[in-house]
Amino acid sequence: MIESKLPHMGTTIFTRMSALADECNALNLSQGFPDFDAPQALLESMARHVMAGHNQYAPMAGVMRLREQLAAQLALHRHIDSDPATEITVVPGATAGIFCAVMACVRPGDEVIVFDPCYDSYQPAVELAGGRAVHVPLTPGSFALDRDRLEAALSKRTRLIMINSPHNPTGSTLTKEDLLYLEELVDRRKLLVLSDEVYEHLVFDNGIHHSALQFPGLRARSFVLFSFGKTFSVTGWKTGYCVAPEALTMEMRKVHQFVSFVAVTPVQLAVADFLQAEPDYPATLAGFYQHKRDLFCAALGNSRFKLTPSSGTYFQLLDYSAISQDPDTELCEQWTRQHGIASIPISIFYEQPPHQHFLRFCFAKSDQVLTAAAERLCEI
Ligand code: PMP
Ligand code: GLN
Repeated sequence: MIESKLPHMGTTIFTRMSALADECNALNLSQGFPDFDAPQALLESMARHVMAGHNQYAPMAGVMRLREQLAAQLALHRHIDSDPATEITVVPGATAGIFCAVMACVRPGDEVIVFDPCYDSYQPAVELAGGRAVHVPLTPGSFALDRDRLEAALSKRTRLIMINSPHNPTGSTLTKEDLLYLEELVDRRKLLVLSDEVYEHLVFDNGIHHSALQFPGLRARSFVLFSFGKTFSVTGWKTGYCVAPEALTMEMRKVHQFVSFVAVTPVQLAVADFLQAEPDYPATLAGFYQHKRDLFCAALGNSRFKLTPSSGTYFQLLDYSAISQDPDTELCEQWTRQHGIASIPISIFYEQPPHQHFLRFCFAKSDQVLTAAAERLCEI
């Protein structure tokens, strides 16, 4: 009937593991979403705007009052100048923003560098644009950028490099030196960058998030993606934004206006109100999530798992090599059924998984759920 354009793609691991967790009534630490609500003021503002009749199309690039608040946020938290009119676009989720940015710049035959383990939406976007994803593994163990492997993967056809820091699924972060290196590289090779920074505020142990927007050479060549789902604990509101120089923004918007045309209106108004009233709220997230990471890791002190505390995101990798040598894809399913605890296997985010034994656990959960999850894991 139809020749698939994504022949190797099934249903995502996040969808499958959340469904299995529901079916087994397991604690769901698989798909990344909080089990607690957004700040009350944000919820109330959303309800108010819906009831006040703000339910028709927003402007294509986003509600201007929100874009102004987002520019103010970039200035406040990162000392970045941005023009809300020409450089900021509100999109219906970072996933859609990534898709639009890739569609805007990748042509048939182009190569796109992605780092493995690689977030699942990148390669399909590249392939649907007619490009080819070239996978560069992060250094096993530390999950740091491997410059030699990156340089070796570049070719005359390389068009775009996709980076993600803090990194899903490993929790690693790019250093300032990494970004300085990338800045030099993309200038030397005249490449574009897509920087996925949806976990920008979730960096721990007094670490600093380095945004591609803070490095002039990257700023000039990058689409940078953010998500309100992560920052305000509203993954179901599917709204985020893309910051890029005017010329890149213009091309991205040409795609955006025919993928979705706009993002959801009352969400934009509610976030604008909230950021205006509480501009410092995002800075509270690191402490909040670090507490959860520490609680979860400490409660696993007597388990057989090996772990290095995550330096960013709301994900913690656990090394189960002392317990089993089974593939992570089998084990995560088995433990969901037998032990009532769901996680995500990380091998599926690789083109060629190395010999390692990690499962990813989301710690954006109530302290009670984290404690109960750790108890179950200690019994394995
Ligand atoms: N990039 C990464 C690395 C993510 O983990 C996620 C989501 N969960 C997204 C993009 C997509 O964000 P959104 O839900 O806003 O589409
Ligand atoms: N980004 C979330 C995660 O990594 C899941 C989002 C999704 O299900 N697509 O778990």
